[in-house]
Amino acid sequence: MAAVELLHERILDCTLCQDAGYIERAAPVVAGRAGNRMMLIGQAPGISELAIRRPFAGRAGKELFRWLASIGIEESDFRDKVYMTAVTKCFPGKAPGGKGDRRPSPAEIALCRPYLDAQLALIDPRSILLVGSLAIERCFPRVPLTELIGQRVEWRGKTAVPLPHPSGASRWLNVPHHRELLRAALRYVREEWDSVVETDAAIIREPIVIV
Ligand code: SF4
Repeated sequence: MAAVELLHERILDCTLCQDAGYIERAAPVVAGRAGNRMMLIGQAPGISELAIRRPFAGRAGKELFRWLASIGIEESDFRDKVYMTAVTKCFPGKAPGGKGDRRPSPAEIALCRPYLDAQLALIDPRSILLVGSLAIERCFPRVPLTELIGQRVEWRGKTAVPLPHPSGASRWLNVPHHRELLRAALRYVREEWDSVVETDAAIIREPIVIV
């Protein structure tokens, strides 16, 4: 079995956060394959993703794919060609007060970190889309979002494009200037798509794992 599939099996079997009492039920979401040259890193699956174990399957996903459609990238094409993962792989539960999902704690992030490190090492993407502040902080701690979103930045020899979280719970996009930054970021996503995804003839075709 290929190394990426073995890693996916390890992730899918993981119950560390449930065992530690951080989450009610471990139900990791994994989607992608060796050969994907672009990786998306989000925060964590939501309740919709928990139900069907598919990343960005709910309201935030609708918005994300609306953004991508605005630059000519179809959802099915994106899901086929992009390795989609998250800082933590399981639904963290609702936020206290019920508005949006709970942000995974530093302890949960630390427990899940070896999986994301292994995904990065094995997939070795050329481009990374960092969706939301938690994913952005994973690569660029302590840098304000406004200094990163709208830029294309180098991270460990890879190209990273930071994006705001498409969740309706985020108010960041209510500021008109921030919407300009989003448009600039999406232009970079399109350029990365053209140069990394569409022109890469070396894509290795392996089955997609969506469990
Ligand atoms: S979030 Fe990560 S570390 Fe925690 S149970 Fe899920 S897969 Fe395991």
